[in-house]
Amino acid sequence: VAAAGAEERVAEVARMLAMSFEGATPAAIGMHPGHGALAAVGALLHYVRSTQTTIPGHLSWPSLEQPERFLSMDVSSRRNLELVEGLQGGVAKTLWGVLDDCSTASGSRLLKRWICFPENSQIETRHRLDAVDALMTCPDTSWLDALQWCGDMERVVARIGLQTAKPKDLASLRSTLSVLGTLTTGLQLYGDKVMRLESIGRTLAAPPAILAMLESALAESPRTFLRDGGVIATGFDAELDECRALTDNADGVLSAMAAKERDATGISTLKIEYNRNSGYCIEVSKGQLDKVPPHYQRKQSLKNAERYTIAELRDFENKVLTAVDRGLKREKVLYEQLLKDLQRHVVWLVSMGQALSQLDVLACFARQSAAWNYTRPVFVDQPTLQVKAGRHPVVERHTKKYQDNDVVLGAEQRTYVITGPNMGGKSTLMRQTALMARTAYMGCRVPAAEVTVGPMDAICTRIGASDDVASGRSTFMVEMEEAANILTKATPRTLAVLDEIGRGTSSLEGAALAQAVLEHLHTHSQCMTFFATHYRELALGLLGTKGMRFVHALTDEEPGRVIFTHAMGEGI
Ligand code: ATP
Repeated sequence: VAAAGAEERVAEVARMLAMSFEGATPAAIGMHPGHGALAAVGALLHYVRSTQTTIPGHLSWPSLEQPERFLSMDVSSRRNLELVEGLQGGVAKTLWGVLDDCSTASGSRLLKRWICFPENSQIETRHRLDAVDALMTCPDTSWLDALQWCGDMERVVARIGLQTAKPKDLASLRSTLSVLGTLTTGLQLYGDKVMRLESIGRTLAAPPAILAMLESALAESPRTFLRDGGVIATGFDAELDECRALTDNADGVLSAMAAKERDATGISTLKIEYNRNSGYCIEVSKGQLDKVPPHYQRKQSLKNAERYTIAELRDFENKVLTAVDRGLKREKVLYEQLLKDLQRHVVWLVSMGQALSQLDVLACFARQSAAWNYTRPVFVDQPTLQVKAGRHPVVERHTKKYQDNDVVLGAEQRTYVITGPNMGGKSTLMRQTALMARTAYMGCRVPAAEVTVGPMDAICTRIGASDDVASGRSTFMVEMEEAANILTKATPRTLAVLDEIGRGTSSLEGAALAQAVLEHLHTHSQCMTFFATHYRELALGLLGTKGMRFVHALTDEEPGRVIFTHAMGEGI
């Protein structure tokens, strides 16, 4: 029975897939019938259909995310390295915070995704780096300023797909489309020499119909809400223009009518007013009531005046009010049609948005690399990480003088044991090296004089003390779980960073734990390891171990104070 139920469910998902995306089958999206992710696809499609009644056009086929496609990093490592969120909260002192000078919100979000999920492919990374280099060496990159006029296309296009885009969204799309010409011309400077820039340029070549459509249909500065009108441009639709002419001329017609009535009645203070409750009315002050003609119909009494209406004013009111109403209804019809017309281009709009975000991030990498003197990492086939004069991308921006440092990790020398005083710079050195590997795989240049990186499968860290009492884990438990995670996962292609392991227990036990972890990583996992410790005896006991390098944070002394140089010296 269970098997039959499972079969039925698979058949149901297959049916939903076919209904939602033309030609989609479980096999076509890379999921065989028993694949666990198929249930997730079914649940998602069901959810989208039940909330949207259809599958919006901006959604692409479900695809299977291959974990090995990304340089893996668990949540705690991501937090420890302060990639997109600082340990004290905020983003200013994070990798994202210092790198992000993207022009668009979707560019910033893509940068965040690249930081959190760097591709584990040297080919993809090289394409990005080639593009960054090309943008850096271009003698005139002023065309990139056009990105400032681009909006948050990811969000706008999603709203077009859902048919919920607001007038301001379409104005933002129009502004974006209007600068695509400048961007594609700029990208053409590279011809087909830089693959990534060439493919972005090809995608950005806009179907001219969309821009022309928006330019003729959408008002120059559309109102925020469609219900207020003023969204569709004058001259786009004759019926709407006619309604607007009636309401636009209302003031002129009314002042002419008031002047005529003043002449006819001799009431010098007569005026025509509009009031939300009583509509249009002729207002006569109390002192001149004796001159009011009999065909004036009283509507309302005020303290100092009486309000009247006449047949001519009633006719006018009917015409104007129906014209406003008709105009608003007409605008709604036209706007909905505009959204439908745009929806036909949604597939192109999605790829245009993605290409723009990529260009935005690559341009951001180029600017940061030039401003902070970043270097292009060299990729090789053997697991290694060699850094000459490396810097911490965040700390260097908040320090007057940054002390750069070298690191050589690889098969021959796979473990660094770092000792030295508190505040010596041990943790910063380890973090900067992990960030360097991360940044290289993102396709960005890195803060160093020279960097060589080999293939990597993960960056794992065990840094700092944090407890998680809410889910029942003490500080020591968190530390041990993170260490166990590294011990089970690390391979020769892993970069493992362990800062002062074994502190949450007694000195002897802590030192024993630290030694066991270090020996396992060095001998069994054979990963590239940074191991900072205050257990000097532990380091002394391992001195001379093949493949281990011992460095310590150097200090200087002046009378009455210690100076942390943040440079590293050989030995313990
Ligand atoms: P502890 O043992 O207490 O954890 P530590 O040796 O790990 O200390 P860090 O936390 O790395 O020391 O560094 C302390 C501070 O020194 C950093 O916050 C940073 O401001 C500064 N610092 C570290 N490295 C450098 C460097 N290379 N150049 C300039 N300043 C640095």
